[in-house]
Amino acid sequence: MAGESLIPATETRLGMTTQTLTLEQETNPWEAQAARFDEAALRLNLDAGLTKVLRMPAREIIVHIPVSMDDGTVEVFTGYRVQHSVARGPGKGGIRYAPDVSLDEVRALASWMTWKCAVVNIPFGGAKGGVICNPKNMSQGELERMTRRYTASLIEFIGPEKDVPAPDMNTNEQTMAWIMDTYSMHMGQTMTSVVTGKPVNIGGSRGRREATGRGVSIVCDEALKYLGMTVEGCRVIVQGFGNVGMHSAHLLWEKGYTIIGIAEWDGALFNAEGLNIGKLVEWKTANGTIHGFPGGEAVDKAELLERECEILVPAATENVITSKNAERLRCKILCEGANGPTTTIADEILFDKKVFVIPDILANAGGVTTSYFEWVQDRMGYFWTESEVNQRLERIMVDSFADVVRYATEHKVNNRIAAYMLAIDRVAYTIKQRGIYA
Ligand code: NAD
Repeated sequence: MAGESLIPATETRLGMTTQTLTLEQETNPWEAQAARFDEAALRLNLDAGLTKVLRMPAREIIVHIPVSMDDGTVEVFTGYRVQHSVARGPGKGGIRYAPDVSLDEVRALASWMTWKCAVVNIPFGGAKGGVICNPKNMSQGELERMTRRYTASLIEFIGPEKDVPAPDMNTNEQTMAWIMDTYSMHMGQTMTSVVTGKPVNIGGSRGRREATGRGVSIVCDEALKYLGMTVEGCRVIVQGFGNVGMHSAHLLWEKGYTIIGIAEWDGALFNAEGLNIGKLVEWKTANGTIHGFPGGEAVDKAELLERECEILVPAATENVITSKNAERLRCKILCEGANGPTTTIADEILFDKKVFVIPDILANAGGVTTSYFEWVQDRMGYFWTESEVNQRLERIMVDSFADVVRYATEHKVNNRIAAYMLAIDRVAYTIKQRGIYA
């Protein structure tokens, strides 16, 4: 059974027990990634040299970006791009804009991309970017100038065969269009395949916008089948109503799941009978917030995560399920739409509570899978219908879910460690075949 592990909750991991972590260490995404990597590598009996290669990012770039602001002053923003691995193909991963972006966070996100691309077996490595800024306080003009200068600073490191960025928190199709245009201007030709998540009319893929949420909804379906549960009566709570959360909630709602709660940064909504997600999407689009929606009761956003439900989908940000609240969760399935929402200590608590975890590197891989389709279509110059894209996505998500639960059963580990083991095994095998260039 996938929920069993041979590892006792307090087992020593390379000299550090998870019991001794401070809250700062517990919520450091790089530490969290490294702890899971170490455990999976240990279980795979991974060669010591390969362990060293895969534990660290291959390249970390820091840029300081001068931007002319609307008021005539010049501001300098710090940006990162980390390429964790390019062994299986070009680096792939989003770019996020946020005030609290850090190098450790970007490192962790880059390595998660390596593992995610390997879990769904697409020919990409892992990368991630971020710029420390507060996009909520910036005009479109300032955002455009910052994006173009960030792209220009990275011009020699990105490219269709090198590293292919995509949207992440607070970046979107427009951001990708600016990056594509800037890169193309430098290259002297239009090169759409340098980024994914673009608008459809300039080389974007149909279905990309909803793809991460669609992937979440597919693995929820698979988990229900695996656990012998049904969509009927399946109550879902979603945290975050942005790209991933909104599309996950909407697609699950369309499939007949009952979405009883939605949490956002400025409040949460609850309706035991189910929220009308179609109307809530319209409300958020019109008002920019879920606040004031008449179809649900306003509740505390942290407390909502602890209400009884069949599926909890954290789809906002990292470290929302920690040693502080994991004990109080009352979901049967945790489907991680966000990257890194659960800390290592929380993992152990959830394992003891027999919560079936669909780990981030599987659950939210629908986005990068459709990004892969976008890159393929751009390079062919031939575009698929939305239903072709969705069918291909469905097949990969269903197969990948089956691969992870099979690995979990065969190796008697939980789903997260199974997903890491599967991914690390695939990447390590490639590096071994290619050899270490000297
Ligand atoms: P987004 O910016 O579109 O949406 C995030 C939403 O979460 C926003 O509506 C925001 O208000 C809300 N939010 C932020 N902090 C919150 C909090 N503490 N409580 C409740 N709500 C909060 O970003 P996104 O693209 O949907 O990404 C969300 C997560 O999914 C991130 O972890 C991201 O790395 C991951 N992810 C995104 C994609 C993708 O295709 N966009 C793919 C894979 C993983």
